[in-house]
Order: sequence, then structure tokens, then C-alpha cells
Amino acid sequence: MIYDHDTIVASATASGGAIAVIRFSGEKALECCDRIFRAHSGQTLARSEGYRLHYGRILDGERVVDDVLVSVFRAPHSYTGEDSAEISCHGSSYIVGEILRLAMAAGARMAEPGEFTIRAYMAGKLDLSQAEAVADLIASSSRAAHTLASTQMRGGYSAKLDTLREKLLGLTSLLELELDFSEEDVEFADRGELARTIDGIEDEILSLRRSFALGNAIKEGVPVAIVGEPNAGKSTLLNRLLDEDRAMVSDIAGTTRDVIEEQANIGGVLFRFLDTAGIRETHDRLEQMGIERTMKSIERARIVIRMIDPCQKEEGMAELKIREDQTLLTVINKIDLCPDCTIPEGALAISARSGEGVERLKEALRDSVDTSALYHGDVVVSHSRHYEALGEALEALHDARRGLEEALPTDLLSEDIRRVIHHVGAITGKGEILSDEVLGHIFSKFCIGK
Ligand code: GDP
Repeated sequence: MIYDHDTIVASATASGGAIAVIRFSGEKALECCDRIFRAHSGQTLARSEGYRLHYGRILDGERVVDDVLVSVFRAPHSYTGEDSAEISCHGSSYIVGEILRLAMAAGARMAEPGEFTIRAYMAGKLDLSQAEAVADLIASSSRAAHTLASTQMRGGYSAKLDTLREKLLGLTSLLELELDFSEEDVEFADRGELARTIDGIEDEILSLRRSFALGNAIKEGVPVAIVGEPNAGKSTLLNRLLDEDRAMVSDIAGTTRDVIEEQANIGGVLFRFLDTAGIRETHDRLEQMGIERTMKSIERARIVIRMIDPCQKEEGMAELKIREDQTLLTVINKIDLCPDCTIPEGALAISARSGEGVERLKEALRDSVDTSALYHGDVVVSHSRHYEALGEALEALHDARRGLEEALPTDLLSEDIRRVIHHVGAITGKGEILSDEVLGHIFSKFCIGK
């Protein structure tokens, strides 16, 4: 994990676009750019004010590499908090390569993945949970994932954690005040009051932990299992939902082999279809394995779509039991073949082949995920690192609660509360010294140039 004051450079855009952006950050960012850039105005970047755009050329000696625009940001008003420049050039990988080569010859060093964001964090521009949200925002592929990431990036989550931390600090300072006066054997902190505060904090942590089920599903895709007898029409439906024909459909079951999971963005939420290869398992071949796999995907799913072909006699799976946190959608397929068949209450009638009723199924899928919390600005936890830290905080809080009941000495109680503060603080990195290993793990997931 690097953190130094070198001037760093990297391409911030993926190859293949019409324009590419190359970013510089560090004390010498502007001087470094000046060595390879000549503005048509004749002005140097080193003398430029911030938030200015300069038109000119990138030169390799006297050879013109490209006509470019350079934006200048002055410390501390930049993403990293340092002097920064961004060259917008033509998006050829040759040009980008040449500019990077020239930049390095001019004294910059190639940035590591996430290094710009590490600097933003070190400069106090973002806390850790906000920095992680930057990566989520870049990766977001649905409206819900975007809302989740942008709320977190703008600091909604940080504010909630700060309030929690303040409450905990209030608790310890009371306890520590008592310690200062321990000779006099006084209790500043009313034990009943302390217990109530701890219970209140526990409720808040529990509700944050509970929100992870939604946050994680939004970020990774809501897991859906499509189950039913062979030939019920699972592949046909999957293809419809994906709006493309990647999974092969045929009367010979067992043809979809290579694709394990497919994703579809339905109504602003990403859905992940589990074990799409397993959907194709037949009865005669691999029967046992097929059932086992189906059971596994049912276990992992948040939504189970159970497909029934009314023309076929139902065997197994008549009793499909699901957990409380799961939604079962019963779908009667092939209604084009038997338009008069009775539809059990609560079931949806569709024709996966013609598409009839599929819109209603999509609505039902979308309605099974309650995202209202997201749009009401509630805090939703979406990182397992945060979920785990909250778990540790909860454990320490329980120790404190138990200590209180058992009338443990004040210093031990205070120690437990400090542990809670430590774990809550680790989420944002505020007031906590985090190891290089933790930071390295977080930032290594970033792309280069961010
Ligand atoms: P799976 O084994 O459950 O994945 O079933 P498939 O999707 O492979 O479908 C089995 C057969 O039923 C194929 O020939 C499909 O074309 C056909 N099929 C699927 N859905 C419908 C439907 O809604 N109406 C009709 N008529 N045929 C369907």
C-alpha cells in the first residue's frame, strides 16, 4: 500500500472511446504537465488558476502527439486535495500510451489502482465508506445500485455513523469521568439510564445490520431461482426475461451448459438468475445432481419462481417450502396451450413463448424487493466489511450490557464501549488508525485512474 507525495499519473478512461482522460496529481502535477504541453495562449499551467481549461498540444520534443484540452485544479480544490491536471486527448491507445510515457519521463509515476482516491481519503476529502461508494458508483448497473452508492458517497451513511459514534463517546466520557473520581465512590452515570442508552444503540446497530440483506441484494443483484419440472418452460422464460437468446432453448433438455448465472435489470433493480445451467438438467440424466442443485439455488435465492406446465402432471416439488425472508412466485406457463385452465389463487398465468403475462411477472419480481428504504434516504448497508464491523460492534455492546447487569467495575465497562467505538469507527476510518492491510484491501479493488 503506497502513500507518498509523488506526482502520479494514469489514464482514467477505458480504451475504445473517442476521448481519453489522463489525470495527474501531486505537488509537481502542473510542472510535470508543462514539460509535455504547450498552450496556444502561451501560458504555463504552473501559473494558471484552478478550474481553468487550456487548449494546446502535447509535444514530444517538437513532434506533435495530439491536440488536447487540459483542466487545472488547484489544491485543495481537487478530488485528491492536491494540485491536479486532466488532459483530455483523442482516445487512441497509441496517443494515451505516448502521453503516459512522456509524463513519466517528465517526472510522474504511474498510479496504483485507487491511488487518487487514497489521496482523497488521506486529505480528508472522503471517509472510507464514501471512498468505497466511489467504486460502487462506477460499478453501478441499475437505478437502485446507483441510488445506494450515491447516497453513501454523499455522506448519508457517514452522518448516521457519526451520530452513533457521538452517542458512544458520550457514554465513555461519562464512565471515564466516574473513573476520575473513583476514590470518592460516586456513580455519575445512572445505571438504568446507561442500560437504556445501550439498548437504543443496539437497536440502531441491529437495524443497520438488517438493511444489509437489501443492500447486498441491490449491489450484487437479487438472487432468483427458477424451478420446475423439465419442459415447464424455465429456459424460455429466462430468455424472455433477459431479452436475448443467449441461453439455448430446445426440446432436448440439458443444452444450457456453460452459463451459470445471468443478470437482468428489471424496473431499476438488478436480478441475478441462479444456476441457469441447472435449469436445463433433465430427469433421465443427472437426476439426483439436478435436484441437489435446484435445492441449493432455492436456498440462495431471495425470490423463487416456481413454474408449472398445466398440461404436465406435477411430480416432486409439490411441497415447495420457502423461508420467511423469501418470496415465492407461482407461475402457470403455456396458457396459450390451455387458455381455459384454472389458475390457482395468487398464481400468475403466462406464456413464456408468446410473452403474454410476462410483464406482470416482471412487476411481481420488482415488487418483491422493497426498495422504499433506498428512496426515502434511509441508511442501507451494502458492504460485507461494514456488516462484519457492525457484528463485532454488537458483540462488544452485548458484553457492555452484560457487564452492566453484573455490576462490573467502571473501567471494564468503559473498555467494552471503547471496543464498540473502534468497530463502528473502522467503517468510516474516522478516529481510527487502520492497518495498511485493511486500506490496501479496500483500495486494491479500484480501477487504475480512480
Ligand atoms: P425447461 O426444461 O423448463 O427449461 O423448458 P424449456 O424452456 O426448454 O421449454 C420446453 C418446451 O416448451 C420448449 O419446446 C418450449 O418452446 C416450450 N414452451 C415454453 N414455454 C412455452 C409457452 O408458453 N407456450 C408453449 N406453447 N410452449 C412453450
